[in-house]
Amino acid sequence: ATSPSRRYTITLLPGDGIGPEVISVAKNVLELAGSLEGLEFGFKEMLMGGAALDLTGVPLPEETLSAAKQSDAVLLGAIGGYKWDNNEKHMKPETGLLQLRQGLKVFANLRPASVLPQLVDASTLKKEVAEGVDLMVVRELTGGIYFGKPRGFGTNEDGQEIGFNTEVYATYEIDRIAHIAFETARKRRGKLCSVDKANVLEASMLWRKRVMAVASEYPDVELTHMYVDNAAMQLVRNPKQFDTIVTNNIFGDILSDEASMITGSIGMLPSASLGKEGPGLFEPIHGSAPDIAGQDKANPLATILSAAMLLKYGLGEAKAAQRIETAVLDTLNRGFRTGDIYSAGNKLVGCKEMGEEVLKSVELKI
Ligand code: ATP
Ligand code: MG
Repeated sequence: ATSPSRRYTITLLPGDGIGPEVISVAKNVLELAGSLEGLEFGFKEMLMGGAALDLTGVPLPEETLSAAKQSDAVLLGAIGGYKWDNNEKHMKPETGLLQLRQGLKVFANLRPASVLPQLVDASTLKKEVAEGVDLMVVRELTGGIYFGKPRGFGTNEDGQEIGFNTEVYATYEIDRIAHIAFETARKRRGKLCSVDKANVLEASMLWRKRVMAVASEYPDVELTHMYVDNAAMQLVRNPKQFDTIVTNNIFGDILSDEASMITGSIGMLPSASLGKEGPGLFEPIHGSAPDIAGQDKANPLATILSAAMLLKYGLGEAKAAQRIETAVLDTLNRGFRTGDIYSAGNKLVGCKEMGEEVLKSVELKI
């Protein structure tokens, strides 16, 4: 039986480089997987990044931000490229992304890193270590040392020039990211590891205290704590031990990049940025890849998997999300590979054809 039809408005921000290619493919997959679960989408494509800069003079036009805010979720391709790297104007395409995150108030960044059985060889780790890795890093995105005050340059007592930053976290900032992390763990395997440096830093001591307090609301989730230096080591020693990791802005920046290298395939990795309410922002972790833009070579799977995260974490449509995830695995099982994940014996395809094959898999696996 199909559930009653639910309608969602999705803002599409194709952006620059390979962005438009991967977004157009992911949109079709989202539409088909959703329709099989009785979902209807209204898509609104808006200007963002270098494309917006060229046409309007700003990387995030007001109409784009307001459309994004009014929608149920935002799916972004990628922004930036050589063309704007030495921009004489004040604005860079990347500025638009920061403004978008601020405008949507998304303070939690979710980055899964899983080693798919079909792509074990792409991992930077030994096969036995890489096999079966399936973890999620939940990074606090709008607080901590990147934003804390006081910050700046100065002079110390000895007349030496100094640079200084401040790690600050307030209770409400820790509580809200902890809630998202526990909810995320609940949708996964029910294990949460909070990473901090509570043996040295006060901000981390408060972090640990608050995460433990919030934990009382999630008795079904198993909570552990780990110091960040140990976590960095454990991620390459035995990444299988992790399900969901929650950590602050700077530790999350580092650990999520480390975790992505375990998978070894940048073209496969999605991300989600979530706030308390309002639309989430979903995007592949790769950039605009100007070196392959316009050549139908891009791997669209990171964006397709971002669309799956949009369904699961943005709209609460876990079944439709599952359809996409299953279809991606099925497409890989049938041997289709874009250049970035190609190995001998497989079928080399471009961005569009990969999209067509995923659509076939979505249709088959009902
Ligand atoms: P950023 O824009 O975040 O600074 P970057 O410029 O460092 O990113 P990317 O744009 O992600 O890096 O590209 C890095 C390399 O990975 C490039 O060689 C690019 O061609 C390749 N690459 C990135 N995304 C994909 C993809 N979806 N499919 C195939 N190759 C990709
Ligand atoms: Mg780039």
